Amino acid sequence: MASMVATDSSPSSAAARLLPVRLRTDAFSLRRLLHMGSTYSTTFPRYFALRPSPFPTSPVVPTAAMATEASAEVIDGKAVAKQIRDEITDEVSRMKEAIGVIPGLAVILVGDRKDSATYVRNKKKACESVGINSFEVHLPEDTTEQEVLTHISVFNDNPSVHGILVQLPLPSHMNEQNVLNAIKIEKDVDGFHPLNIGRLAMRGREPLFVPCTPKGCIELLHRYGVSLKGKRAVVIGRSNIVGMPAALLLQREDATVSVVHSRTNNPEEITRQADLIISAVGQPNMVRGSWIKPGAVIIDVGINPVDDINSPRGYRLVGDVCYEEACKVASAITPVPGGVGPMTIAMLLQNTLISAERIYNFH
Ligand code: NDP
Repeated sequence: MASMVATDSSPSSAAARLLPVRLRTDAFSLRRLLHMGSTYSTTFPRYFALRPSPFPTSPVVPTAAMATEASAEVIDGKAVAKQIRDEITDEVSRMKEAIGVIPGLAVILVGDRKDSATYVRNKKKACESVGINSFEVHLPEDTTEQEVLTHISVFNDNPSVHGILVQLPLPSHMNEQNVLNAIKIEKDVDGFHPLNIGRLAMRGREPLFVPCTPKGCIELLHRYGVSLKGKRAVVIGRSNIVGMPAALLLQREDATVSVVHSRTNNPEEITRQADLIISAVGQPNMVRGSWIKPGAVIIDVGINPVDDINSPRGYRLVGDVCYEEACKVASAITPVPGGVGPMTIAMLLQNTLISAERIYNFH
């Protein structure tokens, strides 16, 4: 069933097929292989408190042979993101009714990259859908760094703005580090400020915000009841925005973490030891079935366009992991599209809400 989804390049029809998979109660629940988890990180906010997983459980003890007999369970990021957005909608109205404050997110876009414009549009729409106010500044490609810093400063001082994000990448004449450092740490909802990352890396310290994509990966695992304690995890990719913070988060979950990057010797061998793989590379179908330990859980962050003459757009999106092969070996996997992508935006909305609640001390 799951491998059928991979042959369908339409996001909406793929999502329609995923739902029954999520809801099925056969013996191939991913909990066969990763011990059922019920403990949520204490660093997560109140509305992430301990809750029963909405997804089916199974006490069946796993064996490698079992995992090769059926296809993996689909980890449905679209459905989980919808659930989270509904929770945010409720919380935003509760806040508005109680203290008259509406959370606000400001987005700064510089230049004319079509993909960036699409991401910004989607973020704006997502804000509207949960009742968060959005503020947008779109600047031309030749804007100076100083002008961007001035806009950041205005948003830093605007009490209606609780989260600020600068859409990356910036034009090459700008120093990304200078720009990101200018965002007030209390409004750094992307979580890229060095202080936030530093706190994420240190034991006993708490970041104000966790970067959205890796946070979404961990949240998916939580909501599917996957316990990571003592498990071997491999993160493929070490970028500042995904791979590195994902590895830090997994360590906080008491997983034993290896990081694979472009200079790693024998990446296949290292990856094959993992109970959990998070891949954030940007190479289509790089992780083959032979890289995967039977029964492993796979979170595929990669979004890669590949030519497809059967698609009206001439291309389709695939992940870093060869989905058809992985489905035969893994116990659970996120699809692309419909896995991590929707979670990233849901986490951005959540960080904005957390920020507004913290600023107003609203519980
Ligand atoms: P980057 O290009 O910043 O980082 C890629 C990482 O992959 C680097 O650490 C690089 O290693 C490593 N890498 C590259 N080639 C190989 C290889 N052959 N073997 C092992 N490691 C390799 O990418 P991002 O982290 O920004 O994004 C990664 C992917 O995730 C992309 O497809 C992107 O589109 C997607 N993405 C998806 C999001 C979502 O919401 N779903 C959000 C953000 C990104 P090295 O450090 O040695 O160069």
